[in-house]
Parts: sequence; C-alpha cells; structure tokens
Amino acid sequence: MSDTTADFIIIGGGIAGASVAYELSAKGKVVLLEMESAPGYHSTGRSAAVMSENYGPALWSRLVTASRGFYEQPPEGFTDVSLVTPRGALFLAKHDEVEALFNQAVELSSRGANIEIVSAEDALNFCPVVRSSEFAKALYEPDCKDIDTNALMAGYLKALRIRGGVLKVGAKVERISRTDGVWTVSTRAGEFTAPIVVNAAGGWVQEISDLAGLPYRNVVPFRRTAVVFDPPAGSDVTTWPMTFDVAETFYFKPEAGRIMVSPVDMALSEPCDAQADELEVAIAVDRIERFTTMSVQSIKHKWGGLRTFAPDHEPVIGPDPEEPSFIWLAGQGGNGVMGGGAAARLAAAFAAMEAIPQDIAALGITAENVSPGRACVVDASGAKPVVGDIEQFA
Ligand SMILES: Cc1cc2nc3c(=O)[nH]c(=O)nc-3n(C[C@H](O)[C@H](O)[C@H](O)COP(=O)(O)OP(=O)(O)OC[C@H]3O[C@@H](n4cnc5c(N)ncnc54)[C@H](O)[C@@H]3O)c2cc1C
Repeated sequence: MSDTTADFIIIGGGIAGASVAYELSAKGKVVLLEMESAPGYHSTGRSAAVMSENYGPALWSRLVTASRGFYEQPPEGFTDVSLVTPRGALFLAKHDEVEALFNQAVELSSRGANIEIVSAEDALNFCPVVRSSEFAKALYEPDCKDIDTNALMAGYLKALRIRGGVLKVGAKVERISRTDGVWTVSTRAGEFTAPIVVNAAGGWVQEISDLAGLPYRNVVPFRRTAVVFDPPAGSDVTTWPMTFDVAETFYFKPEAGRIMVSPVDMALSEPCDAQADELEVAIAVDRIERFTTMSVQSIKHKWGGLRTFAPDHEPVIGPDPEEPSFIWLAGQGGNGVMGGGAAARLAAAFAAMEAIPQDIAALGITAENVSPGRACVVDASGAKPVVGDIEQFA
C-alpha cells in the first residue's frame, strides 16, 4: 500500500486522533491527517493534564477508569518515562453540597476508586491554602494523577510509525467524497483514500462531518480559560493536589512550581485558535482570593482552549447513523486526555467492526449510550446552537 492509500484515515492529530491511530495501526494501514504543522497544537496541548475518576459525566468517568491501566503500565517500548505521576485531587463541598459529595463517594467506591471524606479543616493537611471556613467537607482522591501529555502523544505516534502508519502534518482536510465504498479525503498535502474515515477533529468535528455531506450533529466547542501565577513565597507546592469545588466554579493545581487556575468557564465558540478571555482571567483571580488564602500578584501566563461537547456531555463515539463507514470520536469535553486511552479502543472497535472491548462493556458502555445517533446528538430539529445560547448544553 502506498502512503496515500490506507485501511483507515483519521482526521485530527490531537490526543483522540493519535490514540485511535495507535489502536487501528495494529489492525491495518493508517493515515493520520493534521492541519497544523505539529500534532497536539489545539486542545491537547492546552489541558490541565490530570486524570481523575471523579471528574466529568458518568460515561466519561468510566472511560477514565478503563484508561488507567494503560497509562500506569503502558506496553513495553511505548515510552521511556512515566506517563502518569501522583497528584491527588481534593473536591471541596459547602454545607448544601455535602449530600452531592457523599453520592460521588458512593459511586466512586463502587468502581473500586480509593477515596477519603474529610472535614474542611482536615482538607488543609492536603492543601494548606484552602479557606476552610468556606467549606464543610472534602473528598480526597489519592489516585488522581498528572499525565505527561507530551510523552503520551510521543508514545502513540512512535508506535504508529513503527507499525507502518503515516502522520501527515500541514494536511488540512478540505474536501471529502465517497465513491464505490471508498472515501477520498483531499488535503493541502495531497489526496488520501480509505474505506473507513475516523472523525477525531476536536472542535472541528462538525466541519469535517459537513465536508462528508452528513447531517448536522450537536457536537460543538466551548472555550475555557487558564491562568498561571506564583504561589506564596516560600511555599512548596509540589505535593498539593488538584483542588476543585463541588459547585464547579474553579479548580487549581501546581504547574512547574507555579499555580494554574481555571474559572471553569464554558463559552460557546467557533472552532478556532482559542485565547484566554480577559473577564474570565479576572474571575479566576477573584475565586482564588475568595476560596483560598493566596493572592495573585501578577499573571505569569494565560491561555484558552476548546472543549467539545454533545448536549449531555457524554462521549460521541461510533458510526454515523447515516454512514457506518464514518466513525465519530468526539465530544471529549474535559476528559479527552484522561479517558482517551479507552475512548480510542472503543472507537477502534467500531471502525474495525469488532465487539466493544470486554472491560469497557463491563463498565456499562454500550453502542447506544455513546452513539452519534442518540437523540440529543442527532438533534432532529437540525437547529444549530447559536453563540451565547448554551442552555441545551448546561
Ligand atoms: C483549560 C483546559 C483544561 C483541560 N484539562 C484537562 C485535563 O486535566 N484532563 C483531560 O483529560 N482533559 C482536559 N481538557 C480537555 C482536553 O484537552 C480535550 O478533551 C482533548 O485535548 C481533546 O482532544 P482532541 O484530540 O479531541 O482535540 P484537539 O487536541 O483539538 O485535536 C483536534 C485536531 O484536529 C485538527 N483538525 C481540525 N480540523 C482539521 C482539518 N480540517 N484537517 C486536519 N486536521 C484538522 C486540529 O488541528 C487539532 O489538532 C482540558 C481542556 C482545556 C481547554
């Protein structure tokens, strides 16, 4: 097979595309197409890079559970460094959120996750800057890990190369057509053909589906802002956990000796090179100063990134209802790195027309509950959400 003919064409060189390319390269010839000059430039390179089984909606958090084994013990030769390192996560609940915290604890324990419920005062043992008077209880998840996203991407792409797969950068997909059971994908770097296409284009998945002539689906990007500042002088932040509030108004974590904070904004966006929003930067600073004892002297760094959702925030993985040879791997929201390993195995099973991997099925993931054909994604009205109207995604 030449480098322009493949069994599987994957569109999008973020974590979704790289991971499914890795999985499918064990089953056939793969071409991975990325429009930028390097993979991982968009959402994948802008995440907080943590893995928590208590983060995100139900099905995504189960995919995190199913990804953990790969990240903790990758196959021989995949990488020379640890893909994950201990971080810990602390979820802070106010008095009226304690019941929700206990429900999370029960659900997490049922999946075998280690957790501890502590008083707000005792939460200071994990993170000494929490303003404990603002909270009643906290859930501590010791097994939350930092993910080395660069090493993970490098591992996937190295294995892809070794297995004969091809990564084409600068290959913006501009036209897609299908004749006699074969897709032709035209890019700025040439034309590629394959019987199966995987749509892993992150915030651009709808544009790719439009190019393929398929109906509108409700999988759209939202911007999130992140800010980095210096911690109080003399503090050793290395062991601080990723700290969230249960109401989801902020999170912060150590980042190379500094503190990264997000006001967890969610603003509907066009697919684009996302930037930090100035109002959200100010909100991030305000939340840090209200809910912790830290003050922000100056912003060292800030950025924006896209998180792409279906209205129910759950994965959109599987064949398009109109065209079974067009496989979606989308709607990663805030779980795309941490749940990416299992999501890729699931998408690869659909692309290769195999059964759902047993460990994933055992967690209650079915073809139906992640299908691009489920009601909220198909959106029978065909109406596109307008910028500023996020109610149906709330
Ligand atoms: C601030 C922030 C914090 C986050 N924190 C976490 C976290 O702690 N843990 C976690 O798991 N997730 C986190 N996320 C979410 C995570 O980053 C995403 O879920 C994940 O990166 C999505 O990966 P992706 O491959 O789908 O998208 P992307 O990385 O955006 O990849 C899509 C790729 O498709 C390419 N593409 C688009 N159109 C075309 C075209 N026409 N032709 C060719 N290529 C095309 C793009 O260039 C892009 O490289 C966070 C996100 C943000 C913004």
